[in-house]
Amino acid sequence: MRRLDIAVAGAGVSGLALSLFLARQGHRITIYERFDTPRPVGSGLMLQPTGMTVLDVLGLLPAVIARGSRIGRLDGRDARSRRTVLDVRYQALRGGRFGLGIHRASLFDALYTPVVGEAVAVECGREVADVDLAGSHGRLVFADGSTSPRFDLIVDASGAGSPLLNRAAIAPKWRQMPFGALWASLQWPADGFDADRLAQRYDKASVMIGVMPAGRLKPLSGELAAFFWSVRGDRLGELHAGGLQQWKDRVAGYWPRCAPLLDQIDDFEQLAFARYHHHTLRRPYGGGLHGERLIFIGDAAHSTSPQLGQGANMALLDAAALARALERSCGDLDQAVRLYHQARMRHIAAYQFLSWFLTPFYQSDSRAPAWIRDWLVASVAKVPPAPALLAAMVAGLYTGPLAKLDLEEPDWARL
Ligand SMILES: Cc1cc2nc3c(=O)[nH]c(=O)nc-3n(C[C@H](O)[C@H](O)[C@H](O)COP(=O)(O)OP(=O)(O)OC[C@H]3O[C@@H](n4cnc5c(N)ncnc54)[C@H](O)[C@@H]3O)c2cc1C
Repeated sequence: MRRLDIAVAGAGVSGLALSLFLARQGHRITIYERFDTPRPVGSGLMLQPTGMTVLDVLGLLPAVIARGSRIGRLDGRDARSRRTVLDVRYQALRGGRFGLGIHRASLFDALYTPVVGEAVAVECGREVADVDLAGSHGRLVFADGSTSPRFDLIVDASGAGSPLLNRAAIAPKWRQMPFGALWASLQWPADGFDADRLAQRYDKASVMIGVMPAGRLKPLSGELAAFFWSVRGDRLGELHAGGLQQWKDRVAGYWPRCAPLLDQIDDFEQLAFARYHHHTLRRPYGGGLHGERLIFIGDAAHSTSPQLGQGANMALLDAAALARALERSCGDLDQAVRLYHQARMRHIAAYQFLSWFLTPFYQSDSRAPAWIRDWLVASVAKVPPAPALLAAMVAGLYTGPLAKLDLEEPDWARL
């Protein structure tokens, strides 16, 4: 196979996983990361059987599972009546599948350590601003005006805010969503929460509180919780102005069991605000004069609200798909980008649509979506085959993304 020089913009989930795949195929990889030290931002996230299968192919799954918390159930209730309005159980699927709550730092470590071990070059403090695709090779242009050496292929893995999305030929429909969430990593409380479930409380669709087990930072360190409170971006100032205690009282009013979590928060500084975006590139590659030299993966190609918890899993699938496409095309880039697009487009379209469609049922000021969620959907969801369909949707399995990549799931029951 032709050995390629490949630049990857961004050392997030997608960039690291792709670099690992490609370095192992023998390509020369350089990652360019804007931070001075590569590091993850944010609290916990939930891995699905799709993303975990990709990690298994990379040989990383046992280590990741050792640092995560197995999740068997998503349990969402109306905060006032305590009525269950969302109940998704992985056991409705065959084969012992489960979800995994994990802290971002643990996932980052699991990917970054082998990337360094494969002698991938990681250049930090390099903020990508643009790309120059003139000629037979491409190069990155950095915010300080300097440029990278020339590469056969440039992969944009720089996330939802990628500066390369502005290129006119591939401009996506890009939208900042009104809602986002305040997130914190806290110690898992001794009582009050089941360690195998992501629990949520709602008040209509304008309030959502979540507590997710997020594993541990070291094999023997304490268990963590990812705590989140959804809030509109334009109401953040109002929330801060009311003061921490007022907000804590409000959360505890909805969900008294959160008291031991709230006791760990002394300052708004402990809560990071993440604003959600939604965009889907019409095609995840941009042409150079002499063929396709720029490919987008992960959130750079498609971002959305984390309501369905698929983003990191889709980023891992993208990385596996692009690596496989390059392998199959023996380094023919034009063919590789088309194979990559074909392998991923149905899954991406389905989950981007589902996330876009479902988000207002959980995050909006309108009462109608919450009423439909709480009374209509909650009742229908109990009738077979709805439980299995819901579990398959949450597990990321709609449209068969793993079969498209010839990836075999691990034996979940033995893990
Ligand atoms: C609050 C929240 C909760 C979430 N929960 C879940 C969940 O439960 N499950 C799930 O699957 N997904 C979840 N997601 C989505 C998930 O975090 C993303 O889909 C995933 O991180 C995308 O990975 P990525 O590698 O494409 O981008 P990122 O993780 O954003 O990584 C991008 C990397 O590129 C770097 N970078 C950015 N700009 C530049 C630049 N100009 N030059 C150089 N480097 C740059 C960044 O520093 C970063 O290292 C959640 C997202 C949020 C915001």
